[in-house]
Amino acid sequence: MTSTRWQGERARLQRVCVRLVRAGLVTGSSGNVSMRLRHGGGDLVLITPRGADLEELAPSQLAIIDMEGEPVEEELPPSSESALHLAVYLGRPDVGAVVHTHPVFSSVAAVAGREIPPLLDEVIIKIGGGVRVAEHAFPGTEELAANALHALGDRMAALLRNHGLLTVGKSPETALENSLLVERLAQVFLYTSLTGGANPLPAEAASVEKELYMMQRAAERETGDPEV
Ligand SMILES: [Zn+2]
Repeated sequence: MTSTRWQGERARLQRVCVRLVRAGLVTGSSGNVSMRLRHGGGDLVLITPRGADLEELAPSQLAIIDMEGEPVEEELPPSSESALHLAVYLGRPDVGAVVHTHPVFSSVAAVAGREIPPLLDEVIIKIGGGVRVAEHAFPGTEELAANALHALGDRMAALLRNHGLLTVGKSPETALENSLLVERLAQVFLYTSLTGGANPLPAEAASVEKELYMMQRAAERETGDPEV
């Protein structure tokens, strides 16, 4: 039932799970997190098991699946949103980790169907632009996965309509930081809308910030990304 392989990666992902709960991004057994395992025989994915309480999860309880979603060892069944995670890894070779949560302010924007504009300087640098809303699809389906990947595009976050938030990153820690940043952005966006509307970022600043985002991603590709 348990595995001792990939111990360092298991410990890192477990710490991210605990931080997600403590930051209020998920409650109970909702939300799921994964990490790409790069090795010679083709990538694998370390992922939270189905129905797990993320705060109580032991590192050895994380499941490992291949890129078709098949369990690699006899472990707990993988997250019900495995298709979503796999679609991102297949469609975005630069992504090393995926975090899916249901935080309140991001969920408000997702339910309202409102794309969140990049109102804060750091958002374009870290996320690549505003946070688009994926078309609705039933949780756990291939359709949800395809819609999410489309909304994600080349960015690091997307909202899932009437559902929640998806963020990605080079590492689990970065994907978590991106979730926290988007949730703060959503909060600022929604409170600002109560004041009569937000001032957009000046176009020149947004352009420089997008350039920084592209440079950072190019630098990551050049280093070969051995450390996920
Ligand atoms: Zn969900």
